[in-house]
Parts: sequence; structure tokens; C-alpha cells
Amino acid sequence: MQGVYQNIFMEALPLPNNPLKSLNLFIIKGDKRSMIIDCGFNTEETREIMLNIFEKHGLDFENTILYLTHRHSDHVGLATFLRDKGLEVYISRVEGNAVNDPNHTWDATFKNAMLQGLGEDNFKIEEHPGYKYALEGMLDYTEAGIGDTLSIGGYDFEIIDLSGHTPGMTGLYERKHQLLFCGDHILKKITPNITFWGFEWGDSLGTYLKNLDKVYEMEIAHLFSSHRELLANHRERIDELKQHHAKRLAEVKKALSLKEYSSVRDVTKHMHWDIRSRSFDEFPQSQKSFATGEAHAHIEHLRHKGEVDFIQKDEKLYYFLTV
Ligand SMILES: [Zn+2]
Repeated sequence: MQGVYQNIFMEALPLPNNPLKSLNLFIIKGDKRSMIIDCGFNTEETREIMLNIFEKHGLDFENTILYLTHRHSDHVGLATFLRDKGLEVYISRVEGNAVNDPNHTWDATFKNAMLQGLGEDNFKIEEHPGYKYALEGMLDYTEAGIGDTLSIGGYDFEIIDLSGHTPGMTGLYERKHQLLFCGDHILKKITPNITFWGFEWGDSLGTYLKNLDKVYEMEIAHLFSSHRELLANHRERIDELKQHHAKRLAEVKKALSLKEYSSVRDVTKHMHWDIRSRSFDEFPQSQKSFATGEAHAHIEHLRHKGEVDFIQKDEKLYYFLTV
């Protein structure tokens, strides 16, 4: 157990075979009701750890709410398990809809993979870790609305929009004590994955960068991120993240300049990835789809800035530089 602030505790939930290593589970203890933020993969091991956490912190199921920052399985995996025990669950409508309509979400992921040119890699959704550890059944939830307040443990948490990493991610901000629970918006050492969600969701990298700027301006004494160690200075980290994406955008432009028309897969192959494989063709399948999704988000950001455009041929997109 680690007390990170008055009435606030942090526990680590292991994420097997995942580079994120573990999820930081936050517990806010109150007299009448308590809250936990996010809940880990849906595995037997995590269920057991979760029950031990409830016992250790003296939490009872009926008077604890579960706040979910976003749809990813390492954050929502145990949500229906906990709801069935009596917890009230909060999540934004966009994320709640995605959780409750997995077929739509996975169909979109598959369709995007085809647009990106992963057809030749025998892309299979079943090998995606988010698919393997997803929650079971439908999730009844209370909608977490932007601007709403949750009062727990002497704190007033305001729900804020942190979309970008996913289309409807939210965070909890406590203005008086300057605390922000930011989900995967800002992480120490690792760059949050920003992917292409489909054309209906617009420029995900642009949305992400805009929300980095928003958080930069906020007064934050303690930033509670969902993975790795906690950060001391949110502004320093935001500067680093913005620099990282600026470099990535330059890399994408360089890759696009190599050919007249490039698929997202072509661009991805020419970018640098910290994966121990000799070439893109040898990447494990899940890494291929993470990498192309990230490349695609950068390409689309350039398109929204008017620097890139595409043509579509045989279900596949071919991008080119316009300037
Ligand atoms: Zn995430």
C-alpha cells in the first residue's frame, strides 16, 4: 500500500506480457463512499488481487464507485466483475458506448488495418491484447459528463475532457488541492499511444496536442498517471511529449517524400521503432497494428494541416505530400 496523498492510495495491478508492466490503481477513501479509478485486465489473477485490495483498504462494494478513464482493457477489464459485486460505474458516453459495442469497435479496427495496408500481414483481431483481456458482458454505467463533479473523501473532482489517446477519455481534476488523475494522457518515460480511430473521429493527434496544451495551463501539484512512476513536473513532460510528436511528424514527411504515393504501412516501415526486430515484416502482429495506427494518426494530422492528401484504391489509402 502506498499513500500518495491524504485519503488517496495507490496499488499496482500487474499487466502480464505488456510493456506498460502494471496499472496504477488509485483509491480515494471517504467516510460515506469511496472511489477506485480504473481496474486492470480481466484475468483470474487480477480478480484475486482486486478482492485483496478491497479487503486491505476496508472498502465495501456497495459504497464504492468505480471511475473508468477510458475503454482500454487494462483500465476496464474487471468493470463488469465489480459492477456485479455492487459498485456503481462511471465512464464517459463515448467510452461506455465503445465498451458495450465491441463488435463495432473491432470491426472498425479491422477496417482501419485494411485501409492502412495490413492486408498483406494477415492481420487478425484475435491476437490483439485488448481483445483477449476485455470485460465480459454488457456494462451498466452512469454517464460521466464533462464538467460534472464527484464529491468523495473531502474532495470535489471535476470531470474533464482528455480525449486524444481514446476519443472519449476523461480525467478527474481537484481544483482546490491541484490534483489531476489523467489516465493515459501523460505518462513518465513512455509516450502515450495515439492512434487513428477512423475518419469519423477526426484528427486524434491534433485533439491530443490540444488537450496537452490545456493541461499545461492547469495548476497541478500532483499528477496521478495510470502507468509507471508519478511525475513531479507536468509542464516539463508535456514539453517533451510535444517535441516527440514534432520529430515524428518530420519523420513521416521524410518517409512520404520517398515515393509518389505511400500506404500507411509504407510510411510505418520507414519510421524508427523501439522494437527488437530487424524489420517491420518481423514485428509481432500486435506491434504492427500499434505502429501503423500511430503512423496513421501522424499522417492524418498533417492532412488536417493541409500538408498531405490521399487517394483511395482497392480499400487502401495512398498518401502524398501536397507541399
Ligand atoms: Zn490506454
